[in-house]
Amino acid sequence: MNMPGHVSRLRAVCAAWFDGHASQVEVGEPRRIDWWRQIPFVAIHAGCLTLPWVGVSTVAVAAAAALYVLRMFAITGFYHRYFAHQAFRAGRGVQFVFAAVAASAAQRGPLWWAAHHRHHHLHADEPEDCHSPLRHGFVWSHSGWFMATENFATRDKLVGALARYPELRFLDRWDAVAPLTLVALLWTAGALGEHFAPDLHTSGAQLVAWGFCVSTVALYHATFSINSLAHRFGSRRYATRDESRNNFWLALLTFGEGWHNNHHRYPVAARQGFFWWELDLTYYGLRLLCALGLIHGLNPVPAAVLDAGARREEGA
Ligand SMILES: [Zn+2]
Ligand SMILES: [Zn+2]
Repeated sequence: MNMPGHVSRLRAVCAAWFDGHASQVEVGEPRRIDWWRQIPFVAIHAGCLTLPWVGVSTVAVAAAAALYVLRMFAITGFYHRYFAHQAFRAGRGVQFVFAAVAASAAQRGPLWWAAHHRHHHLHADEPEDCHSPLRHGFVWSHSGWFMATENFATRDKLVGALARYPELRFLDRWDAVAPLTLVALLWTAGALGEHFAPDLHTSGAQLVAWGFCVSTVALYHATFSINSLAHRFGSRRYATRDESRNNFWLALLTFGEGWHNNHHRYPVAARQGFFWWELDLTYYGLRLLCALGLIHGLNPVPAAVLDAGARREEGA
């Protein structure tokens, strides 16, 4: 029996919410935004509007803050510096754990993220750049580009070596699994708290609203700001062929990613704050993981790059 067109379309859209492989067959205008597919993204934002009903508690705010810190570190340290740039080495278990934590921020899977980011570095601020604010404007670079049909699929050719790990391919294909697992854990913790520790004044819905929705939305816009703002606002220490900038406020918000001009100058370094006064919380976290023996081989910034930067600081 043939299904009506709109029913089969709805099925395809629902499948694409959960199954990244559904993206491989996407057709249509490449820059068209498929709003149906954005329903989960919009719903996470809408979840923040439930705060007047779910209320607030110390434990809920602490969960939101802790999950911001943990997941921002996983995104910048692992999705970005490790998977996209191989700035250090890690064992298979560590890479999977941090990939899963980063994936719970609902910014799609590790292969998708790394592949699109490598594409950005290959074409930064050129017409092919997916999210150049100079080419496509603020809104597109902030949150239009990843909604476009042309950017749904993972750019497999750019992440061939990572694709040999089936566990990473799983996280990438089924990219809703990690966020939904986090939601389930938060709900369970909140419900248990409500039942066994009523003095905490929390609930399942409250912990999900704060720990997942508020925290994830904050992570979204902090991460997106590197694409939309860090190629527009800030200083340029290095004359890179793109318009990347160094910006303290963005570095603060994103745990070091705001030193974006440094980063475009030497992308494979584990640190993006090249000098001691350039706050780079992710790098300090990576140093800690290194000291604990969980990762190793942090790529340094070459002395020539540092010297050129120091001369520029001195106005030479
Ligand atoms: Zn950039
Ligand atoms: Zn990068």
